[in-house]
Amino acid sequence: MDKYLFVEFKHGKVDPEAVINSGANKLMIAAYTKDPDPNLVEKARSAGLTIGLCSGAYREECAANPKSRQQIIRKIKHLVSLNPDEIWIDRLRFHGRWETKGEKVIYQVHEACRFCKNLNRADLITDYFFLVRNLIPASIKLGFFAVPFMAEVHPEYRKKLGFDYRRILKSVDMISPMLYHRMIGQPVSCISEYVQYLDGLGYRYIIPIIQVKDMPDNLPDGYSVDELKRAYQEAIKPPSSGVAFFTWDHAQERGKDEIVVALLRS
Ligand SMILES: [Zn+2]
Repeated sequence: MDKYLFVEFKHGKVDPEAVINSGANKLMIAAYTKDPDPNLVEKARSAGLTIGLCSGAYREECAANPKSRQQIIRKIKHLVSLNPDEIWIDRLRFHGRWETKGEKVIYQVHEACRFCKNLNRADLITDYFFLVRNLIPASIKLGFFAVPFMAEVHPEYRKKLGFDYRRILKSVDMISPMLYHRMIGQPVSCISEYVQYLDGLGYRYIIPIIQVKDMPDNLPDGYSVDELKRAYQEAIKPPSSGVAFFTWDHAQERGKDEIVVALLRS
């Protein structure tokens, strides 16, 4: 059972000792806009924790903009140069919001522009995953953060985000579905159901990442410790390979670090 802690550096520095002693055996460390604190990386590595670096893939409006391709290549090469054990790529898809309000899914995805009109988005994104795989040595594992929709339920969403999980499967070692159940207006049971769904698609290393507070940040936190415990239990149900907590910074912010540590150590 692998237990990941996502470390964001949201409020500046993070105490390496607290992270190392949290009970997590693997880290997902944010490397979106700047490199992570080398002190934390070194100490965590010496303590035997697996180092995973997380980053967005590109910054342009459109994934099909040729600049996006260049940004992806630069970003991956840079992450490889930092020599992590794992790379977790985020937003390697067309941009768009995917949270729900109640039953209603908010379809607010990048509209066709001069770069992507008449383009099959899933073809482009699948090719990008292939490109990324080939930029990463076999010694570094590649994973990605997945939007937790089932293609059969939301075919339009797959088409617009360009995420075709059956085709991406062959390019990656790991998948982490973002099962922020409260953000998508679902009960905790959606977590294990979605892991089963991915298992059915052929994924063999699945790490559901769960929220520890209500998001986005402007929401008051109505997410109880009891519900967090239940979400954790759902996350570790077979065939899951473990769990990831999003994030350590959120846990500290909401005074939930003790419960997150207790679950990581359990
Ligand atoms: Zn476009």
